[in-house]
Amino acid sequence: MDASVGNRFHELKAAGELPSPTGVALALLELTQKDDASIKEIVRVIQTDPALTGRLLKFANSGFVGLRRAVVSIQDAVILLGVHVVRQLTLGLSVLSNSRRGPCQGFDYIGFWSRSLATALASQALCEKGRSFPPEEAFTCGLLSQVGCLAMASLYPESYGTLQHSASNALELTRLERSTLSVDHIELTVALLGDWGLPRVHLDAVGEHEQVHDNDNLPKGSRARALAEVLHMAAHIGRMCVATDLHAATLLPQLMAFGQQQGLSEPDVGSLFDAVVRDWVEWGKLLEVPVSKGASFTEMVEQVRRIEATPSSERHQGLRILIIDDDPVIVRRLTHHLKKDGQQVLTATNGRAGLQVALDAKPQLVITDWMMPEMDGLALCRALRRARFGQLLYIIMLTMQEDEEHLVTAFDAGADDYVVKPYSRRVLEARIRGGERLIRLQQKVECEKEDNRRYLAELAVMNRRLREAALTDPLTELPNRRYAMEHVLKEWAASERGGFPLACLMIDVDHFKRFNDNCGHDVGDKVLRDTAAVLRGAARTNDLACRFGGEEFVVICANTDVASANQLAERLRRAVELYGKRVSASGVSLTVSIGVAVRRSEMKSSTELLKAADHALLKAKSSGRNRVCVANTERA
Ligand code: GH3
Ligand code: MG
Ligand code: MG
Repeated sequence: MDASVGNRFHELKAAGELPSPTGVALALLELTQKDDASIKEIVRVIQTDPALTGRLLKFANSGFVGLRRAVVSIQDAVILLGVHVVRQLTLGLSVLSNSRRGPCQGFDYIGFWSRSLATALASQALCEKGRSFPPEEAFTCGLLSQVGCLAMASLYPESYGTLQHSASNALELTRLERSTLSVDHIELTVALLGDWGLPRVHLDAVGEHEQVHDNDNLPKGSRARALAEVLHMAAHIGRMCVATDLHAATLLPQLMAFGQQQGLSEPDVGSLFDAVVRDWVEWGKLLEVPVSKGASFTEMVEQVRRIEATPSSERHQGLRILIIDDDPVIVRRLTHHLKKDGQQVLTATNGRAGLQVALDAKPQLVITDWMMPEMDGLALCRALRRARFGQLLYIIMLTMQEDEEHLVTAFDAGADDYVVKPYSRRVLEARIRGGERLIRLQQKVECEKEDNRRYLAELAVMNRRLREAALTDPLTELPNRRYAMEHVLKEWAASERGGFPLACLMIDVDHFKRFNDNCGHDVGDKVLRDTAAVLRGAARTNDLACRFGGEEFVVICANTDVASANQLAERLRRAVELYGKRVSASGVSLTVSIGVAVRRSEMKSSTELLKAADHALLKAKSSGRNRVCVANTERA
């Protein structure tokens, strides 16, 4: 950001004229910066705002959060969703309600939020499917992924509205902003989100999401890239939600392509899209953001099919033929003859104009004169062959001369065939029929290629599903033991390479057998599912909680030293205990024991780390349960 813009940014921020959270959200941001904030304190702060309380409860109970029982108190919501998620949600909802209007005349504030809300819900739904990122966090990232545009509108109230309308896509907008205002909306988005304390991974993802498919700034396979790709697709869905039906239908093929990258089949994308629209309508009412339900996914697919069906009906109307000749009499005569034969005819009177028509209208066959002003037939042939679509084009050259030298030159330039002037109608028709045979053959090959591509893509989707199923525990929907082992191996290597600490928490439910024995296996299963949800909610974004076996869980914490791991373990233990007290089933108390271990230099592999955590867990069990024990941190 250039210095003068930077100054103005800080002035406006100080004056409270940039998008910002206020009140409860601000208090919550401050409170949750502290590692030792208690859940009770957090709940107390939220409850001072009844509207926010209502919205959070609604969020926690909406189908897409996937909690299995009704959440009736903010305390439950905080425990089940996690402090982190509640903090981010509050932030997003607060910024929204503070920035419904602003100083920039040409900027559609309400439309902006309508689209951002759809983007947020789409981000969340995608993460529900992909498990690459906690869905509730993706919601906030989606909601605020364009918040820099609001800041731009505050910084440049006179010009930003017009500027925004003159760009046709995100990349163009960024370029235009940079060249005329020396700052862009992405830069401001990242600055604001950083200010509000969003973690690095989120900032990276939001900062890169608009162009994530055009570069490798975020390494393939990284979490930031996974989130950026989700946000990219979600933004596309956001655009479709606010577009007119016809416009939305034209955005559909790109949506399917993004879906495939996310491992989603066509029906998956369809149900996801429709669910997002449903949620969008519902949430729009709740947040007082106008929304309008457009065509359903199926209706859009039909619309696209109708559009795609046009070429096949055109087939009965013959080929799309472009005639290029500087002699208007020939153009007229040829047009007349070809139209009578049922062909569709386009015309141009010199090579340059012909090239333009060809690029726009993509004919299947071109009949061109040789000698023409501006660009002759040879130059035109060469230019057409250089274009991608021109390689499959069938080109017939009209020539006055039939000598060998001339013909070789024409074929070398890219002509497929020639007809001598003055042309005989029968000969020309025969030559066109020859061309048509080739064109139809090529079409068939293209169709088969397309079928193959579709088949391969379906196979890829299926493989990804199988892999996902193989790595997910069906009862708790947490990653399973195999996934945990793969993950800890990767984190081990990364922590060795980078010299970062690595921690591992082994968690076992205390006296779990009693649930089964006293209340039945079903209740036992439910306890496991609830414990999993509590652990996932109370862990931090970068921690990975997995079901390790029976009633054992493991949490793998990258870049975490022994003090933080201990603190986290204590938080998890308390969260389960608190939850247990609230839902206490037939007097059996729900608690966990936790063993904590961190990587030590003498450990040879991740297996030793897991073993050390297991050892500490046994210690926690033997010294009374419902407690955290830390493995030796020095050499034994
Ligand atoms: P401790 O405090 O020593 O850990 O006692 P515990 O009863 O929790 O431990 P123990 O290992 O003796 O018993 C674990 C039980 O968990 C045994 C097994 O039947 C039960 N279990 C394992 N997987 C499942 C499951 O998926 N569902 C249910 N309902 N029970 C399970
Ligand atoms: Mg146990
Ligand atoms: Mg056990």
